[in-house]
Amino acid sequence: MSDVLALTAATAAERVRAGDLDAGELFEAYRARAAADDLNAFVWVAGERPPTPDGPLGGVPVAVKDLFCTEGVPSQAGSKILEGYLPPYTSTAVEKLTSAGAPLLAKTNQDEFAMGSSTENSAFGPTLNPWARDRVPGGSSGGSAAAVAAGTAPWAIGTDTGGSIRQPAALCGIVGLKPTYGAISRYGMIAFASSLDQCGPLTRDVTDAALLLSAMVGRDPCDSTSLGLPEPVALPAATDLDGIRLGVPEEIYETEGVEPGVLQAFEDTLDKAKALGATVERTHLPHAPHALSAYYLIAPAECSSNLARYDGVRYGLRVDGDVDLLGMYEKTRGAGFGAEVKRRVMLGTYALSSGYYDAYYGTAQKVRTLIVRDFTTAWERFDFIVTPTSPTVAFPLGAKTADPLAMYLNDYFTVPMSLAGIPAISIPNGLSEGLPTGFQLAGPAFSENRLLDAAHALEQAIGFDGSPPRA
Ligand code: GLN
Repeated sequence: MSDVLALTAATAAERVRAGDLDAGELFEAYRARAAADDLNAFVWVAGERPPTPDGPLGGVPVAVKDLFCTEGVPSQAGSKILEGYLPPYTSTAVEKLTSAGAPLLAKTNQDEFAMGSSTENSAFGPTLNPWARDRVPGGSSGGSAAAVAAGTAPWAIGTDTGGSIRQPAALCGIVGLKPTYGAISRYGMIAFASSLDQCGPLTRDVTDAALLLSAMVGRDPCDSTSLGLPEPVALPAATDLDGIRLGVPEEIYETEGVEPGVLQAFEDTLDKAKALGATVERTHLPHAPHALSAYYLIAPAECSSNLARYDGVRYGLRVDGDVDLLGMYEKTRGAGFGAEVKRRVMLGTYALSSGYYDAYYGTAQKVRTLIVRDFTTAWERFDFIVTPTSPTVAFPLGAKTADPLAMYLNDYFTVPMSLAGIPAISIPNGLSEGLPTGFQLAGPAFSENRLLDAAHALEQAIGFDGSPPRA
């Protein structure tokens, strides 16, 4: 069975569909592995295989970030305020995966309400990076990334608001895709920042990402912001980059804090891209350096509104005591939310308050428009914009928890695409100091098929062997 567990999900699905592999045995083998996980990647593991129809996903089980509502299964978004919450319904993304033949294997650990870049903000303890257990797996979808990298799950889904799929994928040496805003329904996905949140796959390779994505895209009457994609997602086949124009933002080189090893790995891959037929040119995204500031106003503003619903009345935790209604709200939220969530609710409430709204939230929205325009201009000359995914490799646990600003800098390269609503993928880009680095490609809205093709060609050229030393 362990040979089978080394297969990519797409290959395992093919074998099941061809009758060479038993889906029940495959599920049980992964279930046993997930149950023995020692990275704290999971917050819940299935006891038995749920009924699953035959489908394109071939019975290959999927791990799902905690914040996706799953009927009768704990869905806590990494928060104490939702501890033990059992939703009465299942999110559309998970429902679609199940009906395409991927049963629910486990729920994965995450930063509380997806706020963070290290999975250290989880009420259920931090997840460890399988490449170096004293380091973070990235975040906020760190449990999903660690599980796929460690081989305790064949594939997983997460959410990306400002980088939470791409950055943990990079730090764990796997593939992570944030689709175009609206490609996948968010019905049943516990909200952080609604103008940014998007669901996507974390997988061993680009083909798996395409297969998982293909099962989830689509317009959903339960989510009025969902659009689907204009054409079906195809499995990538490209092996060259003939005629592809890659733009490298000059701003990468003007930023402090990008590790030399990360930059070197990035440059090496640019050379490989040229060898595959791409043209590589420097360009400017002049407003990108302001993306982080805009993001850290917009995301907290939206979170302060979305998290107002956790009041001790409707969901999860309630702390009563000898107090009036307002006192109950305060006690509940004081006890239920962690420090980062409180920080953001306060920041966001302040930025939205009358008298400050235009100066903060309004200005941030204007900057967001300028960033959108930067990309629109870039698409006149380039097919894709490429950057390192994260400025650093995985950092030691605890290294940035006392310094929120240092933590926020992790998102430097991923936030601009989130603000612009465009698709971006991180693929493993070799090691620096023995730890994985990521290469990010971003394309125009709805360019998923072309993006997956280009990522596939590069993936073949990079030839990364995705196993952490211990796994
Ligand atoms: N690290 C970013 C934040 O803390 C992004 C999180 C995300 O994409 N969910 O907000």
